[in-house]
Amino acid sequence: MESLVEKNIIRIREDMAAAALRRGRDPSSVRLMAVTKTVDDERIREAIAAGVCLIGENYVQEAQRKIPLLGEGLEWHMIGHLQTNKSKYVVRLFHMIQSIDRIELARELDKRCGAAGVVMPILVEVNTGDESSKSGISPGEAVTLVETVSAFKNLSVEGLMTMPPWFSDPEEARPFFRKLRELRDRIAERDIPGVQMTELSMGMSDDFVVAVEEGATIVRIGRAIFGQRPPKIS
Ligand SMILES: *Cc1c(COP(=O)(O)O)cnc(C)c1O
Repeated sequence: MESLVEKNIIRIREDMAAAALRRGRDPSSVRLMAVTKTVDDERIREAIAAGVCLIGENYVQEAQRKIPLLGEGLEWHMIGHLQTNKSKYVVRLFHMIQSIDRIELARELDKRCGAAGVVMPILVEVNTGDESSKSGISPGEAVTLVETVSAFKNLSVEGLMTMPPWFSDPEEARPFFRKLRELRDRIAERDIPGVQMTELSMGMSDDFVVAVEEGATIVRIGRAIFGQRPPKIS
């Protein structure tokens, strides 16, 4: 019998494909990431059984436990705020770091990747809503950050990521997704050596349909796959 997690994934994939087709996009140009923060291993295994092969983690400590246990054949991306002093741990764990939002962090990660002999794909996280509560670089500073990071030999800039302000109506998030896409296009026009700008990581449980319509190549989904997370204790 199919699990609830699998049912959710099937429905999400249908909605993603429909949104892509509405904009004349190939549905295979958008990847579904399962966001597994606080999710237990059993339900992550159900998602993997349902064909998910891209996983997003927010916390280095959780990833250190889960990736060796469940990781085989999957692609893991770091999507959470990354402290500079944790850079050394992410090099061997993740296939991409989506949360690069400051030069200091990029410089340290570059150094660690160099020492390990790997080139790490990264996304620059942009705070499209300019919210003080959120990480991400402000849109106005993103170009400079991409240019600076492009000079780091062990990092490969592949695009942008954002987490827009939360709205009860997902339509209200549309201008922020559009802003990220336009920023991506402006940076791509500069043809900065070593910079790809192919990925747009945007859209979560409540607004991924709108994000796909606006050009997302990766949607990051937690609750719509796994159900509500337990409230944060902090
Ligand atoms: C938790 C999280 C998500 C997924 O959020 P849901 O609302 O559960 O879909 C996506 N991106 C980031 C950066 C997250 O922290």
